Amino acid sequence: MWFFLFILALAALAGLHFWWRAKFSALQGRHAAELDSSQRRQQQNSVDAQAQQKTLFDSMLEGLLLLDRNRKIHLANRAFKNLFGLKAELRGKTIVEALRIQELDGLLQRAETEQQVLDYEIKLPGLGERWLQVNAAAITNAAGEREGTILVFHDLTRLKRLERQREEFVANVSHELRTPLSLIKGYVETLLDGARNNPEVAERFLKTIERNANRLDLLIQDLLTISALESGRMTLDLQPVRLRALVDKVFSHLQTKAEIKNVVLVNEMPEFTANGDANRLDQVLSNLVDNAIKYGRTDGCLVVGGNTLADGAIEVFVRDDGPGIPPEALDRVFERFYRVDKARSRDQGGTGLGLSIVKHIVQAHGGEVRCESELGQGATFFFTVPAK
Ligand code: ADP
Repeated sequence: MWFFLFILALAALAGLHFWWRAKFSALQGRHAAELDSSQRRQQQNSVDAQAQQKTLFDSMLEGLLLLDRNRKIHLANRAFKNLFGLKAELRGKTIVEALRIQELDGLLQRAETEQQVLDYEIKLPGLGERWLQVNAAAITNAAGEREGTILVFHDLTRLKRLERQREEFVANVSHELRTPLSLIKGYVETLLDGARNNPEVAERFLKTIERNANRLDLLIQDLLTISALESGRMTLDLQPVRLRALVDKVFSHLQTKAEIKNVVLVNEMPEFTANGDANRLDQVLSNLVDNAIKYGRTDGCLVVGGNTLADGAIEVFVRDDGPGIPPEALDRVFERFYRVDKARSRDQGGTGLGLSIVKHIVQAHGGEVRCESELGQGATFFFTVPAK
């Protein structure tokens, strides 16, 4: 009996052992599977986070560079590579190896020691002036230890160019205003000093004062027009404009001027109808015809005509047989205050803004301007305007 009970207990114990082992290994298996899936989930999350981070960094307009604590590149985003025209892998390189800009090394040293975001401007060497603004800051961990450095690069070139254009414009305007103004002042002072007692001299001086006052007036009008056109404040009153009739109108206004130089005005414009602002197109044609008379030759001939282009637009041309424009000036004549011959333009009462206004008005109509010329063979100005 005792023996039988002993065998039974042994069998029960063995059963319990196998049951427990089976259960334990199942538990272990489940645990391992869970661990494995959690690890895979973690890996996936980390891959996803990295992909998200890359997309985020690559969508930035600013160039971004992350350096590790040894000043080696850890990450460079797409904008950074584009900014410097780099294609090769940058990871592991120093900033000087990657960019060859020594002065950035000094900025890095400062960023590591100073507890603030540094702001720095650099001019890139090489062809075509380029400016960058660089912000640099140290990256620290929770314990306050330096982990690396972050650098953000903004392209300042466009802003710098605009700033320089604005400065040049202000300098040009001041100069243009000062010239007639100082002449007016000078003549007024001479008149007050006694010249007014000689009627002949006084008359001559007063005429010069009047001429310069008119020039100032013209300049201010042109400046206001340019400013309205550039700021987009000027709206076009689009309507059908009969171009041949418009050319006749412009010719009749400038007839006296043409006669003084014995210039023949020829209207070869077909009966085209444009879709444009009649007053603004009048301004464009008047400027071009006025220039052709002013800068064309005495006893010359001036022709205005037009063609239709493949896209249906109308191309108007104003052709003279004067001295023409040198090749290097062909594009520049449309810039504000650019003159091929400064003295000649001033003698003719020019403001240097006429062609710039022409360009703006034509562009506002969705058209284009250009000029063709050979020295000594005259100049032809073209502009396009939509047909009705
Ligand atoms: P401006 O007030 O000096 O006439 P514009 O902007 O109208 O200013 O013209 C710019 C410059 O282009 C002129 O100063 C002149 O040197 C040149 N130019 C314009 N039209 C002609 C032309 N038909 N023939 C030769 N030169 C011209």
